[in-house]
Amino acid sequence: STWWGHIQMGPPDAILGITEAFKKDTDPKKANLGVGAYRDDDGKPYILPSVRKAEQILFNAALNHEYAPISGDPEYTAAVAKLAFGENSKVLEEKSNCTVQTLSGTGALRLGLEFVMKHYAKNKEIWLPNPTWGNHHQICNMINLPFKKYRYFDPKTNGFDIEGAKADICKIPEGSIILLHACAHNPTGVDPSMDQWRQLSEIIQFKKLLPFFDMAYQGFATGNVDGDAAAVRLFVEDGHQVVLCQSFAKNMGLYGERAGALTLCCGTAEAAAKTMSQVKIMIRTMYSNPPLYGARLVKTILTNDELRSQWLCDVKLMANRIITMRQKLREGIESAGNKHSWRHITDQIGMFCYTGLKPEQVERLTKEFHVYLTKDGRISVAGVTSKNVAHIAAGIHKVSS
Ligand code: PMP
Repeated sequence: STWWGHIQMGPPDAILGITEAFKKDTDPKKANLGVGAYRDDDGKPYILPSVRKAEQILFNAALNHEYAPISGDPEYTAAVAKLAFGENSKVLEEKSNCTVQTLSGTGALRLGLEFVMKHYAKNKEIWLPNPTWGNHHQICNMINLPFKKYRYFDPKTNGFDIEGAKADICKIPEGSIILLHACAHNPTGVDPSMDQWRQLSEIIQFKKLLPFFDMAYQGFATGNVDGDAAAVRLFVEDGHQVVLCQSFAKNMGLYGERAGALTLCCGTAEAAAKTMSQVKIMIRTMYSNPPLYGARLVKTILTNDELRSQWLCDVKLMANRIITMRQKLREGIESAGNKHSWRHITDQIGMFCYTGLKPEQVERLTKEFHVYLTKDGRISVAGVTSKNVAHIAAGIHKVSS
């Protein structure tokens, strides 16, 4: 007998399940384009040179392992807020931000949405782009935050559906919450242009919506960390009090170290201090205080001029390798004589490409070519290398013609 006999088997995680299947495959041509983790051109996990140097600095400093404050290392939270909002941000000058260290981007989302659920005084309903990262729906379900979808991706153009998005946002009840991917939208790789962001900002302000930004890829879209934060900074300049989730999983390659941050822009320093007191109570009851190591690495890099410049080069190198692989993949499919347009492979940005492949084509690509990807046709371009790109292109050409 068991206390838990009534429990049903839950579905495996859609993305992490792919890695399991990939591991079991013994074909030498196999490629894992499922999980969003950067790989070098040999398909190996990449440790950024700036991170390696920071590790040495930390090792030599022989630090102790005392608890971090509930809200995290204050030098870390100051540095990451500056990275997101910019050196001369009014929000930081006024100290109207409440920024806490979190368990990477997912932890920031969960904490931020829990906070909204408990303390937001307007319409507790969040609007997600269609499509969005699967975990957004799951977190909302877990905490009973109702979610709805606004149009985002246009399958006809494989691009951003600005008219659809604007029309849908205009119908969102006043005071609701809207989730926005700050850059390198996952899964589509499609971002609004700056002009389109301006239009969205205006409508969102008009509708008095709370903009909740998920920024998991700062630097990964264009290779430029300031450029990738432009949408968030524009919203702040336009007077929005944004919520922002940050992750250093991708842009510093710190996946398993769980370094992230949550910022609530509160309008005044007084509101920020009160908000902070409540966020801290929430953290204290969930995990008491955050882990040290990842935050120490991030802080060391961001506050040391030499390491910071090295890191900016490291990010650029990763972003550029992805851009090159997009070009090679597109050329490979087109030069095989494929009749469809593959322009979107190079138009889209960031780690992911929404190929437009149908579920049955995805299945064939996996079965016949040992190329693993999510059912929605999303590939992680970070898993494409000079060595496997021809095989992947040949596979995509075959299953789509
Ligand atoms: N948001 C989005 C859109 C993501 O793609 C990811 C990473 N897959 C995350 C948040 C959070 O990742 P992590 O918790 O590893 O920082």
